[in-house]
Amino acid sequence: MFCFEDVIGSDILFSDSGGFVSANYYLFKHIPKTPFSRYILGEAVKGTSIFKFGSGDLKLMLVSGVHGNEIPPQIASLLLMEKLLNNNNNLNGTVYFIPFLSPKSTMQNVRWFNNNDLNRSSAILGSLTNKVLRKAHELNIDSLADFHSTSINSNPGREGIFCSLKPLYESYEIGTYISKKIGSEVLSFDVAGSAFKGALEDECNLSNIPAVTCEVLSPHGYTKEESYLRSLEQMEAFLSYFNVL
Ligand SMILES: [Zn+2]
Repeated sequence: MFCFEDVIGSDILFSDSGGFVSANYYLFKHIPKTPFSRYILGEAVKGTSIFKFGSGDLKLMLVSGVHGNEIPPQIASLLLMEKLLNNNNNLNGTVYFIPFLSPKSTMQNVRWFNNNDLNRSSAILGSLTNKVLRKAHELNIDSLADFHSTSINSNPGREGIFCSLKPLYESYEIGTYISKKIGSEVLSFDVAGSAFKGALEDECNLSNIPAVTCEVLSPHGYTKEESYLRSLEQMEAFLSYFNVL
């Protein structure tokens, strides 16, 4: 019998964060109802899951769902994983996905996980995003991209790519590449983590993994097709920077 585990690797990073993401109305409405989606959603019930595609030397990690109510990138992750599934042997690298960083928060359609903003707590030992950071180091990830959506009246309130010039200039290079390729605005800082603390992107850049945060515009807790397709374009542009596809 065909088994997804035989084609892609999977692992549970943390079990207390599991949830039925299908309970998120707008997420479930837009995802493809395929056996593959059902498999990924089934793994999310068990906890924060990581999925591996390909086997090349270059290693990338794509993260979404750090904020559970930011729906577009979580749908885009599913769409991209399904694409890669059909292309697994031709990948010029290894691509790890964490499509639902906190399935429980996605199920509840909320930003927080256990009263924590996960994109402000990655430096705190034991936090869910700190576990992701440590996993990225354990796997020798060459670059990480974290995908979000922003509502028009929040921060940044517009489509863009957060990156920084220091300590890793490659963060800025990846950001400007994605910007030139698809038109998202570059939102760069001089030094990672100088504006606020604990963003997953910043903690990666501060610990020698070049990283960016990609934002598309969408009201929180909601998505239209155009928003998740835009997030998918950002993901593909990130992979394209590294010539993985
Ligand atoms: Zn966010």
